[in-house]
Amino acid sequence: MQLVWLRNDLRLDDNPALYFACQQAIESKDAVSVVYIASPKQWQAHNESPRKLGLIQETLKCLRLKLADLGISFELLEVNSFTDIPAVLKAYCIKHEVSGLHFNREIPLNEQRRDKAVQLAVSRLDITVECYADDRIIHSNILSKQGAVYKVFTPWYKNWIQKLFDALPEVLPPPKAVSSPLTATQEISLSAAQVFREDIWLSNETEVLALLDRFCRRKAEGYEASRDYPAMPGTSVISPYLAIGSLSARRCFHQLILSCAEQGLHLGEAINHVWTRELAWRDFYRYLMLNFEHLSRGENFKTEPLARAWRVDTQAQAAWQTGKTGFPIIDAAMRQLLQTGWMHNRLRMLVASFFCKLLCLDWREGEKFFMEHLLDGDFASNNGGWQWSSSTGCDASPWFRIFNPTTQSEKFDKDGEFIKRFVPELSALDSKSIHCPSTEQRLALNYPEPIIDYKFARQQALDFFKV
Ligand code: FAD
Repeated sequence: MQLVWLRNDLRLDDNPALYFACQQAIESKDAVSVVYIASPKQWQAHNESPRKLGLIQETLKCLRLKLADLGISFELLEVNSFTDIPAVLKAYCIKHEVSGLHFNREIPLNEQRRDKAVQLAVSRLDITVECYADDRIIHSNILSKQGAVYKVFTPWYKNWIQKLFDALPEVLPPPKAVSSPLTATQEISLSAAQVFREDIWLSNETEVLALLDRFCRRKAEGYEASRDYPAMPGTSVISPYLAIGSLSARRCFHQLILSCAEQGLHLGEAINHVWTRELAWRDFYRYLMLNFEHLSRGENFKTEPLARAWRVDTQAQAAWQTGKTGFPIIDAAMRQLLQTGWMHNRLRMLVASFFCKLLCLDWREGEKFFMEHLLDGDFASNNGGWQWSSSTGCDASPWFRIFNPTTQSEKFDKDGEFIKRFVPELSALDSKSIHCPSTEQRLALNYPEPIIDYKFARQQALDFFKV
């Protein structure tokens, strides 16, 4: 039997481990089985959000049916933590006479250690272990002319783009049926999984691919102009699917090429597209995590010590977490996160800057809260985003760059449309006062006073970050 161990790659499309396992099985008239191993304690340690687990659970249910149609059996196994997995997989391999184990590589340190332990555990069995490059658009390690790992995005990106011009990455089709259809019987239930707004988010891979297609055809062209305005549906909102792997990053890029070609654009325009650049940021943060182990350990990317310790202010932190800071745009953003499990990128930058700079709170606390609530919680991108915001990261925002929540609000949510959606108590305010209501308006609308004085907090942050 060929065994595919699914992890962050819950899809049929462009899934190297599944594709090549099936190909091998068809050639050798073998069976294919797929396992997914739930590890609740590990998830808890990694702050995985219950809603993201809910999306994973429902995605697995759909995937199991699709696999059954292709004659591929599926089994959900459960362990406590990663350290239990090698023994469980070894026992599974022996019991089912597995001759090939296939999985797609994951980048964070714990995951890499887990995979090495699995390889060691099955090494005495007569099993071929195949670990495939997945999860990024470009997998080769991009190095400078001097052979050094890049620490800055722009030169890395130039190199990354060049690799796309040299050769487009391959995208694999879904596997062919390996036998006649099976009946899927096992119930799929992940402990700690919670409901996740099924009215917004998709658990069926076919629908996810259709969403991608719609974005590339209808919105990619206007992406650059609209992507910074949270009230507009200007971005793709595919991040939850990339995070759990019900969509591949290579597929996203290929879909963009296809729709650009349909619109008569050249390949170079798709490669240089602003949206491709955003997908590149995702690749870049993975590249950093792969090359700098200390990122997986929750350390600052920059190794120089900070001049001062982060502040501890549980009240301010709680106000930020619950969307009650008294800064309408910050509160709207945090409530979007709490209500939908997702937040617009411009707002992630704003709330993170507010947290690390204006409140001087440790970015790790913000990173953790995001992971606990995001549906698209992704270790590498989340860590990258937080370290960028706190100026502790590689190629981060300069330490003196501190977003002013009110002027940012006036600029990116001019009429207060987004604020009104998530802070409805302010919906009666006009488009001028909604960004910073007066004390009387706050009192009348039962909306809190600002938890900080912006000018004072800004100065405090400058003193804090100045080395
Ligand atoms: P689009 O604008 O349509 O972009 C397409 C895809 O490109 C995204 O789905 C994402 O995979 C990738 N992408 C876009 N911008 C970035 C970026 N700045 N960094 C990395 N990848 C990017 N993204 C996550 O997927 N998971 C996280 O946990 C996460 N945490 C973040 C925390 C902070 C503090 C910040 C500032 C950013 C974070 N991001 C994270 C990046 C970004 O905000 C989201 O990827 C984006 O908002 C997702 O929306 P979208 O799918 O509509 O993106």
